Amino acid sequence: MICDAETGFPDHLSVAIVGAGPAGIGVARVLRDLAIPDVWVFERGQIGQSFRDWPKETRLLTPSFPGNVFGVTDLNAISFDSSPGWSLRSEHPSGAAYAQYLDQAADMFGVNVQCGIDVRAVEPVDNAFKLETSRGPVTADYVIWACGHFGAPTDAGLLGSELGRHYGTVESWDDIEEDEVFVIGGYESGIDAAIGLAQKGKNVIVLDRGAPWLDGDKDPSRSLSPYTQQRLDTFRRCLSITLLPDVEVIALEQEGSGAHILAADGRSWLSDGPPVLATGFVGGTQRVSQWFEYGEDGVPLLTAQDESTAMPGLFLVGPEVSHQGHLFCFIYKFRQRFAVVARAIAARMGADTSVLEMYYENNMFLDDLTCCDDDKCLC
Ligand SMILES: Cc1cc2nc3c(=O)[nH]c(=O)nc-3n(C[C@H](O)[C@H](O)[C@H](O)COP(=O)(O)OP(=O)(O)OC[C@H]3O[C@@H](n4cnc5c(N)ncnc54)[C@H](O)[C@@H]3O)c2cc1C
Repeated sequence: MICDAETGFPDHLSVAIVGAGPAGIGVARVLRDLAIPDVWVFERGQIGQSFRDWPKETRLLTPSFPGNVFGVTDLNAISFDSSPGWSLRSEHPSGAAYAQYLDQAADMFGVNVQCGIDVRAVEPVDNAFKLETSRGPVTADYVIWACGHFGAPTDAGLLGSELGRHYGTVESWDDIEEDEVFVIGGYESGIDAAIGLAQKGKNVIVLDRGAPWLDGDKDPSRSLSPYTQQRLDTFRRCLSITLLPDVEVIALEQEGSGAHILAADGRSWLSDGPPVLATGFVGGTQRVSQWFEYGEDGVPLLTAQDESTAMPGLFLVGPEVSHQGHLFCFIYKFRQRFAVVARAIAARMGADTSVLEMYYENNMFLDDLTCCDDDKCLC
């Protein structure tokens, strides 16, 4: 059931899932397969809101291909029986198209989603949780936090960052008027911005403290995806994209309607308009950060069931999940943990978990984290 803010939901839930992106809808589906009652997904915008908010030219990096029946689930699918490649007829769907896939998936899976509900706080009360929402309080035995990180752009501590515009706030590269545009940050979003702008005829200069476009790490969570690399190789030949490595940008200073970009080594550039900040996103757990412990690298510390080490009953799904230095930040990675979280909750509720066999059979259940100790899951 997919509802807007005017319709109702019970006062007490067994499981409250916060966020209706691929993580929230995906884990709700597993709980539905386990026949857990009173599971609701709360979403402050619409299903797939982060994807709806992408620049309209942006496409998914990971390719979609409907290999499901041969045991190779579409990389962008949130379940083993759906495929955005098949339903959208697209290998690299746009954000709007992917949100449409999520909409259809939520409907087909029969999960309860309440849109237009902002979850403002979560507090433990009497062996359960109280969620403060924009529609008033609701309690739940378990909470699954699935807020992603697109809604939390970071300026990475850049002085004068208000003179720039963050990648996450750009609706379309058509909206940028200047002929020459500086992009600060040269990883996925920075290169996506550079290509999007160059395709609109702009002269684009990308500044980065390193040279991510040369990084050869085997894990696509740590180096440019083949899709981005391929597009960059193609478009650099025919469009105006300059990549400047080893530039540690420390500040932006007002200069007319533009900005002076200052680097740590004394170099500077004059930008006619606001530079694009491709400086990334911080974790989506900010709003509930008091209920998580964080490692030195800033990742939330989780049990082997992806439960907060500081707050039993509070689980995390999505791109912020990390174990032994292995990042689960792509859909094809973090979907492997939906069944692990759902099994933990179902087992505590005394529910039969044998249905999860089909998740094992379909290669959608990574509970053996020792695979992250070596390179075999990265090759
Ligand atoms: C430009 C770009 C390209 C990408 N390309 C790929 C790709 O090709 N393949 C891939 O696997 N990944 C890709 N990613 C990463 C992918 O988008 C994320 O990993 C994915 O969106 C995470 O899913 P999620 O459900 O955890 O979070 P989201 O999709 O961000 O969903 C979180 C939802 O929670 C809602 N929400 C947040 N806070 C609250 C609150 N307090 N109360 C209620 N609702 C709330 C939001 O509105 C949102 O709808 C890309 C990311 C970007 C930015």
